[in-house]
Amino acid sequence: MNEENKELANLLFPHINKEVDYYLNLYKRRELSQEQKITRFAPSPTGFVHIGGLFSALISERVAHLSNGIFYLRIEDTDKKREIEGGVLEIINALKNFDINYDEGCISDLEQKGNYGPYKQSERIEIYQTFAKKLVEEGKAYPCFCSNEELEEIRKKQESMNILTGYYGEWAIYRNKTLDEIKSMLEKNIPFVIRFKSNGDFNKKISYKDVIKGLIELQENNQDIVICKSDGLPTYHFAHVIDDYLMGTTHVIRGEEWLASVPIHIQLFRALGWKPPRYAHIPTILKQDGESKRKLSKRKDPEAAVSYYHKEGYPSNSVIEYLLNLANSNFEEWRKNNPEKNWREFPFKIEKIGTSGALFDLDKLNNISKNYISRLNAQEIFDYIYNWSKQYDMTFFEIINKDKEYSLKVFNIEKDNINKPRKDIAKWSDVRNVVEYMFDDLYNLENIKQYNFSKNMSKDDIKEILLRYKNIYSYNDDKETWFSKLQNLSENLGYAKDTKTFKANSSLYKGYIADTSNVIRVAISNRTQTTDLYQTLQVLGYDRVIKRIEHAISTL
Ligand code: GLU
Repeated sequence: MNEENKELANLLFPHINKEVDYYLNLYKRRELSQEQKITRFAPSPTGFVHIGGLFSALISERVAHLSNGIFYLRIEDTDKKREIEGGVLEIINALKNFDINYDEGCISDLEQKGNYGPYKQSERIEIYQTFAKKLVEEGKAYPCFCSNEELEEIRKKQESMNILTGYYGEWAIYRNKTLDEIKSMLEKNIPFVIRFKSNGDFNKKISYKDVIKGLIELQENNQDIVICKSDGLPTYHFAHVIDDYLMGTTHVIRGEEWLASVPIHIQLFRALGWKPPRYAHIPTILKQDGESKRKLSKRKDPEAAVSYYHKEGYPSNSVIEYLLNLANSNFEEWRKNNPEKNWREFPFKIEKIGTSGALFDLDKLNNISKNYISRLNAQEIFDYIYNWSKQYDMTFFEIINKDKEYSLKVFNIEKDNINKPRKDIAKWSDVRNVVEYMFDDLYNLENIKQYNFSKNMSKDDIKEILLRYKNIYSYNDDKETWFSKLQNLSENLGYAKDTKTFKANSSLYKGYIADTSNVIRVAISNRTQTTDLYQTLQVLGYDRVIKRIEHAISTL
């Protein structure tokens, strides 16, 4: 080792007195089988958790846990300017809300679990500096005292010469300063960063095999990139390499915006004498905007934030299933064939993720969610709505809790038909509207002055149907009896008892049974579509049904 470099390293990092071996011994290499994968979610606490962040957390979690490996949470809080208060908790809660479990990492603002911590980068400064110091000792890194103005100056010159811009080769003006020159800068207390001395050649290519994108060729990195900023904190590049090595990450799964930086990362790994991990770059989640596609934006798209799904009341499983479907297009087929299974049983394959942008589609999410909710029983639905409304809709919370037995009956309607369950709820915020007519507190008869009866029927006909129905309706009828009574009533009033009869001789009839039953439907709900009429009437109960029919008659 060059003595001057050693002296320089001590001058730059006088407070660092550990050797890298200390950390290399402290963080033992993980003993893994061939299959086991170690992955992480490494967000910055700079604001809300983006749906793209959840996407990468889910993929990383699946890859680790399906291989019996470890998934951990690392908080990347080295950009103190962009950090927001409560950011760490927001991340932890998002993972909790979506049931994404991790084995190591930050579990609250102050607590962490696992043997490879600290899992917050701001608590690892000494580690980064120890390795930066080593690179300086080895002549692989150096201090750079360039001001922003000087850097700007260099860039302008390069632009005017039409050559590659940046801090590299002969443009890297602090690369070869003598120790004395550096000392005099240090004495003047001029702020400095630590740069990595690149030996890359921009005209050469490196190639690596991305787990998702396949074989990738990129230009070598020739820039002397900053590894420690002037405040002593590491840049993303450096922290990534140090952390993912020491924490034993086998698969770095991250957004594709990092793809172009891979040459820098591989170069740093090599300079430190380490084997780079496997990289998997996840496509960005895009949104169709007119003719073009764009990134989901924090400002324009509320659905960019994962808190949106919670507020809207999407069950976390629906969002997870949607994201799994976005990642592996065979998920839907699997779900169809395995309606009872938990999404964790899906044989997720990271290699099957598409290479181009994943298109976000709210309709698809709604569909998946309706299907998911259709598989829940009434009690499960009630519990979900209970928790959701307690937080987001207190009035509704009180209404459904007033008579829990009744609410359960409402959510149980059409739950008997396993082959054709009701699919009218995509999210809990839909429920109030969907079930409004089932609750007197939401459905105020006095306010209804006019009903949505069919315009093709006369008032007198409607009235006649309702008057007669009122007399024949009995709460104790089973479905068959109820239906045959309705058929008789229809026939007596000149309506065909079924579609077939009507179609065969439509001129003989005023209409058919759907018309009569719709009159009853509208009279009890003021809607043309409801859940199964028989079950709805049964749940409403005799008194309510009669009262509603009488009120409807009074408006005619
Ligand atoms: N903190 C980085 C980000 O939020 C992490 C990228 C990575 O996973 O390495 O983009």
